[in-house]
Amino acid sequence: MKFTTTCPHCRHPFQTEYLDSGVHDLYCPNCGRRSVLFIRKHRFETLFDLGTRALMDGYAREAVVNFAAALERCLEFYLRSALLERAAQEHRDLDAVARELGATWKLLVSQSERQLGAFAAVYLAREGRAPEFLTPQGLGADFRNRVIHRGYLPRESEVQDYAARLFALMNRLLEELGDAALQGTLMQEREYAAALEALPGDVVAVFEEHPGMFRTPRGQAEPPVVPVPGQDPAQATTQAATRPPGGSQPVNARSPNARPSANAQPLNDAAAFQAALKERGTLISELFSGKAGR
Ligand SMILES: [Zn+2]
Repeated sequence: MKFTTTCPHCRHPFQTEYLDSGVHDLYCPNCGRRSVLFIRKHRFETLFDLGTRALMDGYAREAVVNFAAALERCLEFYLRSALLERAAQEHRDLDAVARELGATWKLLVSQSERQLGAFAAVYLAREGRAPEFLTPQGLGADFRNRVIHRGYLPRESEVQDYAARLFALMNRLLEELGDAALQGTLMQEREYAAALEALPGDVVAVFEEHPGMFRTPRGQAEPPVVPVPGQDPAQATTQAATRPPGGSQPVNARSPNARPSANAQPLNDAAAFQAALKERGTLISELFSGKAGR
């Protein structure tokens, strides 16, 4: 899937492809100069937005594949964020914890049933109650399997219902995570900081936050800007402006306001999804196509 970005050197807009890493090494088709674009978005957000775009364009079946993948990655995001939150509360070395988490995830990565099991245990440990939504009905698993594995051609209305169910569930998980979601975000920022460190000093780095259906907290309490070692001060200023928060400062404990569900609107799943679609659907459409949506 392609999206439109702007060259930081000459402001020329051009299309480029989403990369799995979120790090895009680009050469402008107009001026030929290099820049590296970091997209501040989580995988589950990108996947859900791709599903939304497909649904808006009438590709109902393709949308299901993206929505289903988005849910799986959202459960992973919850698991990682919750475990990192715990580690931060215990003042452990978050880089070391992240490495162990990565090694553990490798054992689960190719089997979604294992992932669900790990998620259930982490959810129970953090929330103190069973993840009652983790049933085939709660996850819309039968519909998903019919579409993905048995070639069922779903109607648009069925995919709307499926998307609305997953949207509500994912929003609920994000609300329950509260400030712990910042841990998942900080992890991405640290990966980006490492990639940035590895770049030659003269390459301009750009960080973009893309609009989407979710509003995962990105953190106001960002650690201070750190100059890039070995870089001359003039370039450091240019990069510092776009530098992600680095270091391993923990974002600790949930704040009392961490659960916006307390004053969330009383919308049912379908209405909540439609409201988000109305509010942000055009932005998503513009993002992926460079043209206005319908
Ligand atoms: Zn350019």
